[in-house]
Amino acid sequence: MHKRITELQEQLRQGRISRRDFIRYTTILGLSLGAAEALAACAPKPTPTPTPTLWPWPLHIPDESGIVPTPEWQPTPRPPTTPTPTVFRPTATPTPVMWEEATWSCPGCEKGFPTQEAWINHILTEHEWKIPGARRVSRPTYSQFLVGPVERFDQKNHVFSRTVWDEEYKALLSKVTPQKASDGFKALEGAALKAGAIYVDETAGSLHPRYYGYTGHLKDVGGLYNWDDPVNPEQYPVSDPAQMSERIKKVGRFYGADLVGICEVDQRWVYSHYFERETGAYGVLDIPYKYAIVLGIEMDWEGIDQSPGFEASAATALGYSRMAEVAPPLAKYIRALGYPAVPSGNDTAQSIPIAIDAGLGELGRNGLLITPEFGPRLRICKVFTDLPVKPDQPIDFGLQRFCEMCHACAQQCPAGAIRRGERTTEPTSISNRTGILRWPVDVAKCYLFWQENGTDCANCVAACPWALPIRPWL
Ligand code: SF4
Ligand code: SF4
Repeated sequence: MHKRITELQEQLRQGRISRRDFIRYTTILGLSLGAAEALAACAPKPTPTPTPTLWPWPLHIPDESGIVPTPEWQPTPRPPTTPTPTVFRPTATPTPVMWEEATWSCPGCEKGFPTQEAWINHILTEHEWKIPGARRVSRPTYSQFLVGPVERFDQKNHVFSRTVWDEEYKALLSKVTPQKASDGFKALEGAALKAGAIYVDETAGSLHPRYYGYTGHLKDVGGLYNWDDPVNPEQYPVSDPAQMSERIKKVGRFYGADLVGICEVDQRWVYSHYFERETGAYGVLDIPYKYAIVLGIEMDWEGIDQSPGFEASAATALGYSRMAEVAPPLAKYIRALGYPAVPSGNDTAQSIPIAIDAGLGELGRNGLLITPEFGPRLRICKVFTDLPVKPDQPIDFGLQRFCEMCHACAQQCPAGAIRRGERTTEPTSISNRTGILRWPVDVAKCYLFWQENGTDCANCVAACPWALPIRPWL
């Protein structure tokens, strides 16, 4: 592994891989194989200084046979006045400078240690870990972090809704100057790619003239997300809900979903009120259905990997168009079987906890659903129904522990919106739920960055090691 990290380091130095890829690959190495070296390699990017401060690289930890390799040079502890390492790839000094009360900072969790030995010991005990296999569990892994009353979330407090009514936030947004593209034609082509990608959702998802895709249902305007299609009065008999679940999953995949899961609807995740930012309509929401069929749509890796830019934005937009092509046909199928069904995009309920309940994945540090198959590189839509089905159990694939050690998304967030430290119940704004111990994402900061950037961002998707399309480490 040491050799592999050194190779990656060399590739980074030569500009053959991006810093994001470097972080991602070393994270994978560190967390899947268990090693201090990968974490050390993820130290913040240095500012070159004429006299380098030595950073303990490479580390000398026992190999598989328990032998500690002979150091090629003597590492020098960093001085206490340097909170973070400033040099990424040091060279040895013939006469190491010794500092009293030296501090060794863990690049994983940022704790400080007085000696290198304590520092290595910490990394090997706290950050060495092997990824367990995925297993079905009786309760979703977020349950252990529900520490207070969890109220239903009002869609009006969603950051996108706030851009319409929250004067304070609107004032902040008005101060942002969007970056001007250095290549106007390239930007034009990128915008065209995105326009084509969202076209299906925008023109067919909802038929309101101000609908511009991305939301899902708008009341009483028709379109694919329409709730009011008639239900067949003749009902298909369901004697075996488990068999019907299998059938529904097959049909969901037939219509284009990449993942399908089923759960009972937990009303805590249904919005207390709907808010349509296109029309300003606001009211109490009632979703009285027993089950949610959750559909996951993979987003194109090559596009997402170009974040933050038009290619990534187009990959996201295409995900929304595919949502409009998958959830409404599945709802139509269920209605034609004689059972009520409501297709939903981002409207009606928070898709992430519902998808976790349906066994698709777990909640990540970046606030997104992380699935074993695609990581966070997934769009989610759902169909609410009373069709008799058997729910899936949630899964645990070790992500909670993984995210405690991996900070790749936080390191790659240009807005500093993803928390690096421990979990907390403190919300960053009214756009976060309370009562949950987690890493709340500062979505207000995130959206400000989108405005400044001129298009949306998916760095926290692209940076996640689980988002990689090929993962031999799994
Ligand atoms: S999408 Fe938002 S939270 Fe994610 S990396 Fe970009 S700015 Fe940060
Ligand atoms: S969500 Fe963030 S912390 Fe968790 S695995 Fe993905 S990149 Fe790492």
